[in-house]
Amino acid sequence: MTAGSDYEIVIGLEVHVQLATRSKLFCACRNEFGLPPNAAICPVCTAQPGALPVPNANAIELAMFAGFAIDAEIASFTRFDRKNYFYPDLPKGYQITQLEHPIVLRGSLTVAADDGTERAIRIVRAHLEEDAGKTIHPDGATTSLVDFNRAGVPLLEIVSAPDLRSPAEAHRYLAELKQRMRFARVSECDMEKGELRCDANVSLRPRGAAEYGTRVELKNLNSFKNVERALDLEIARQRSLLDAGKPVLQETRGYRAESDSTYSLRSKEEAEDYRYFPDPDLPALEISAERIETLRTRMPETAPAKATRYRTAHGLPEAVIASLIQERDTALYFDRCVELAPPDPRALANLLLSTVLGIVNERGEALAASRITPRHLVDVVALIEGSRLSSQAARTKVLPAIAESGEPAAAVMTALGLEQVSDDSALEAIIAQVIAANAKAVAEFRSGKAAALNSLVGAVMKASQGKANPNRVRELLTACLSAP
Ligand code: ADP
Ligand code: MG
Ligand code: ZN
Repeated sequence: MTAGSDYEIVIGLEVHVQLATRSKLFCACRNEFGLPPNAAICPVCTAQPGALPVPNANAIELAMFAGFAIDAEIASFTRFDRKNYFYPDLPKGYQITQLEHPIVLRGSLTVAADDGTERAIRIVRAHLEEDAGKTIHPDGATTSLVDFNRAGVPLLEIVSAPDLRSPAEAHRYLAELKQRMRFARVSECDMEKGELRCDANVSLRPRGAAEYGTRVELKNLNSFKNVERALDLEIARQRSLLDAGKPVLQETRGYRAESDSTYSLRSKEEAEDYRYFPDPDLPALEISAERIETLRTRMPETAPAKATRYRTAHGLPEAVIASLIQERDTALYFDRCVELAPPDPRALANLLLSTVLGIVNERGEALAASRITPRHLVDVVALIEGSRLSSQAARTKVLPAIAESGEPAAAVMTALGLEQVSDDSALEAIIAQVIAANAKAVAEFRSGKAAALNSLVGAVMKASQGKANPNRVRELLTACLSAP
């Protein structure tokens, strides 16, 4: 190979998604983050002799939801296998996983390619498996400790085909996968809690070559940024090897964010033989077509389905739709507002995106936990639509005050003295004063200078201390000035 050859990048991702079940995959222990060490363990997940695993029906359902979310097939026959290896955080000496009969097969995701076109990325399979415990190496200590809370927590490993062609594409694939898993309520996918973990496989081949090059697996990347960065580094490393005429060796590498570098974990020669075999303690599962279709009807609404509904039922513009479905909780909040029948869903969506999210972020709160409830937002929109409140006052005064107190919208508006004067007789009295005091502008308007109206509207607004409804003022002023 000559220096500076043109290579095609080939990437395949293995993503572990932690399922949002209440209990573990094969026992009744809590599946909960942040508990004191070994607070959620039992004979099953710590491998006491004679303890028997029992499959968690909810984990199986969530795996099926995940399958629906990636347009995959659900296997009619699925089975658990033992993957044998020794590690101190794996008390059984094997991990229960699925090798030959994974529960989910042949899905796909659409991802924007770097040239802007849409590409379908194939998903080969997704299988259920249990997580291992966690080994802790306390600072300065000569011994290590093991926390088994995570042992037996359900994971779904989602394996893509080697269809991705750049680190940026890999990033977008992960973002799309995360969005789908969150909307399907399969997992919260909080990477900081390890609820989504990624192993990235990457190889280079001369552009146009039919065969894939030798791949390197990058293990345990725990943020989208690290996935992209580790891939960039590895691609550069492989490129320089190939340019120098040296082979890329198949190996597993790790990434250290602190030193922004990758390092070898083990080579192909050191790869273990896991001696997989079907777990004799667990029955194979037959999943009937009927059960699959029944479950499909219970599938939470997907982001694309929400987008379609926002378009057809509410006529929202594409940019607004994209913002609403970006975060599941924003979309769910909007849905709850819509159930309360707001006068104008479009105005509501705008106020939610332009103002409520900002207020909530600034306060460091989650939207779902904010004191501004869907009821409040719907009421605020109704007050604006009814010309009792200006949208300016809603944004800058009323909504921030609700975020603080949680008091009803109308009460907050009244307490702040922000109710607009739309009462015609009150407005007409002010207008009469303004007309009398602004003879010059009045004469200009009457002689055809339309712009003069703005200064008169401004004068009325000022005289009303900002409480007049500007639209009504404009109408009344025009009527008064046009009268003979
Ligand atoms: P294994 O059975 O060794 O785990 P798989 O065929 O299951 O290997 O592939 C594991 C992951 O590696 C998949 O996500 C796949 O897309 C990816 N992959 C396989 N071959 C290559 C390659 N040559 N370059 C990049 N990624 C690859
Ligand atoms: Mg694999
Ligand atoms: Zn347990």
